[in-house]
Amino acid sequence: MNGTGNNDVLTSTQIVIEDALRKLGYGDDMIELLKEPMRVLTVRFPVRMDDGKTRIFVGYRAQHNDAVGPTKGGVRFHPDVNENEVKALSIWMSLKCGIADLPYGGGKGGIICDPRKMSFRELERLSRGYVRAISQIVGPTKDIPAPDVMTNAQIMAWMMDEYSRIREFDSPAFITGKPLVLGGSLGRESATARGVAIMVDEALNRKNIPIQNARVVIQGFGNAGSYLAHFMHQAGAKVIGISDVNGALYNEDGLDVEYLMERRDSFGTVTNLFRDTITNDELLKLDCDILVPAAIENQITSENAADIKAKIIVEAANGPTTLEATKIVTDRGILLVPDVLASGGGVIVSYFEWVQNNQGYYWSEQEVDTKLREMMVRGFNQVYELHRRRNVDMRLAAYMVGVRKMAEAARLRGWI
Ligand code: NAD
Repeated sequence: MNGTGNNDVLTSTQIVIEDALRKLGYGDDMIELLKEPMRVLTVRFPVRMDDGKTRIFVGYRAQHNDAVGPTKGGVRFHPDVNENEVKALSIWMSLKCGIADLPYGGGKGGIICDPRKMSFRELERLSRGYVRAISQIVGPTKDIPAPDVMTNAQIMAWMMDEYSRIREFDSPAFITGKPLVLGGSLGRESATARGVAIMVDEALNRKNIPIQNARVVIQGFGNAGSYLAHFMHQAGAKVIGISDVNGALYNEDGLDVEYLMERRDSFGTVTNLFRDTITNDELLKLDCDILVPAAIENQITSENAADIKAKIIVEAANGPTTLEATKIVTDRGILLVPDVLASGGGVIVSYFEWVQNNQGYYWSEQEVDTKLREMMVRGFNQVYELHRRRNVDMRLAAYMVGVRKMAEAARLRGWI
């Protein structure tokens, strides 16, 4: 994915934001305010590598808007990180927080790097260097980072430790997605998938399809995709296809999900262990009830949207369906549960973690799950109801629900 071209995620996000704000009755000033982040910091910082040489890394932190409260969102480590992508991701975080009614605006960060080619200690120095570089604009009541693509609980632990040293007091609420012993929340690791599974339930209900033996296809077998496969299997659905960056596996009688979970590596790859594979493109076109893109952006496009056979698409990934493809699948009667609604489980449980850190009181997994379900279902109902009442597609309805509290907060603060 790159930040330019037809499928530029920032441009398409801005098109829908503008549409949503106009439908809500706001004018050009509000659109100007909310179509770009209020702050984007670019940092260049040195990291000592294992061979003794110093490398300069480039990172970003985008803060979309803080009218509702501090900004919140993950940090991505990936070679393709770029400013436009980080900006778009920060806007999506605002929308996710708005739909879930969290007291946050959206933020997002990223470092241009390839963690697969770095040692454990190099990753530690990179993580600490990034926190030193952005420390002025982040904090438990300003902007709270979390994990995203190719970052994990260990990286959150180093970042929390570095921030605590800079501030000279222990600051667990600075960052979420931490290991349990450092103030992490039960249920955080599988929260995104848990939330997606709840959205699958709701969508199946609306389509009157029972979950028992429903055929599920999942693109991507990392944090989001693999846990989702596990939850779907547990619920009695049949996972007939999964994939990773190298290819896809298909079995019309259902794959052995637990075996695949055991054999996947920490980057979510597993298909290289099998000889009989199909391509990712073939996977997306499989005959199934539910298709869940859980890998990367721009997978369902005007090229393949007419060939999708699923009855329901639930977007676990951020931005997997282009705007043209959204129209094609919606016109074909496929129920699409958009990313800003479907993948909100991660930030919701991150919010629970922050609340627990601030209280110094920790909840059971059952409590986390119950509250997560409540918030996800409320979000789904609001979006679905608006989609029906205003006759807009599910993505536009989700943007309208997601942006309205922020716009109202900005207006009441007297900014517009
Ligand atoms: P991950 O890095 O753990 O896994 C990514 C998976 O996608 C891997 O199986 C990888 O092999 C596969 N993949 C990568 N490139 C691919 C390609 N070109 N074609 C097919 N498969 C490919 O990432 P994750 O945390 O599971 O995130 C997946 C998506 O979900 C991302 O869009 C992410 O932004 C979104 N998301 C994740 C979370 C979370 O909490 N993990 C929360 C919200 C949204």
